[in-house]
Amino acid sequence: MLDSGLGGRLVLVTGAASGIGLAAAKILGGEGARLALWDVNADGLEAVPTDGAASVERAIVDLSDTTTVATAVDALPGPVDAVIHCAGIYTTSPLPEVDEASWDRVLDVNLKGAFNISQAVAPGMIENGGGAIVLFGSFAARTGGLRASAPYAASKAGVAGLTKHLAQWGGPNGIRVNCIHPGFIQTPMNAILSDQAKADAVAATPLRRLADPPECAAMAVVLASQLASFVHGVELDVNGGMYMA
Ligand code: NAP
Repeated sequence: MLDSGLGGRLVLVTGAASGIGLAAAKILGGEGARLALWDVNADGLEAVPTDGAASVERAIVDLSDTTTVATAVDALPGPVDAVIHCAGIYTTSPLPEVDEASWDRVLDVNLKGAFNISQAVAPGMIENGGGAIVLFGSFAARTGGLRASAPYAASKAGVAGLTKHLAQWGGPNGIRVNCIHPGFIQTPMNAILSDQAKADAVAATPLRRLADPPECAAMAVVLASQLASFVHGVELDVNGGMYMA
């Protein structure tokens, strides 16, 4: 049996109310982790099933707000052992339609949010002898995406660069940092896409299907766990072969 070592560990999942974060929270519950679940979607957050978890704390936290994130980390019951940072937003506006406000919002949530949470948990992890951070990029960081907007692709490419920086900085302090680039995972995030866009995504995926959230969430849990104890600074594609590095 493989032992994730996450039983009794404090694991923070952001974007936990939906999609990949929700799937990660369920898996982590099964591992007996102590869960901290954050999102801006209060109803969704309250409904997350956490069977098996050693403890559960839920909080409404907007990841784009640096002070809010720092305060929320301080309010957690101890240093965080691992973070699976799924909170994000997706837009598809063509370049001429991207206005300054939408550029700023996507960068604030997707890129500044990743920075905010990483910076906020790092001191506690160092004091605690280490930890693991899993960030979420995207297939769009690799290729520009199929329908993704410029700010979305740019924000996710930024997350990839941030991952490398954090890995350089955090490694000597025992903090492992990795990033997942999902392909097309069937979550509420993709509800805005047309059937044609989904068919195009299937056609662009050598496995010829879209993925279910647990298929991506499981990889995040592994990266957050001792099973990935020597995996560091990696950009892991979970995309059915849509992009092969
Ligand atoms: P999802 O189902 O939309 O879940 C994301 C969650 O984050 C939602 O509950 C959302 O709330 C929340 N959120 C949005 N802004 C937030 C903020 N400022 N602070 C805190 N929470 C916030 O998305 P997903 O598909 O699971 O995606 C998870 C991660 O994978 C994202 O970073 C996404 O960009 C990335 N990704 C996903 C795919 C895919 O195919 N699904 C592909 C590539 C990359 P609201 O619903 O209220 O906005």
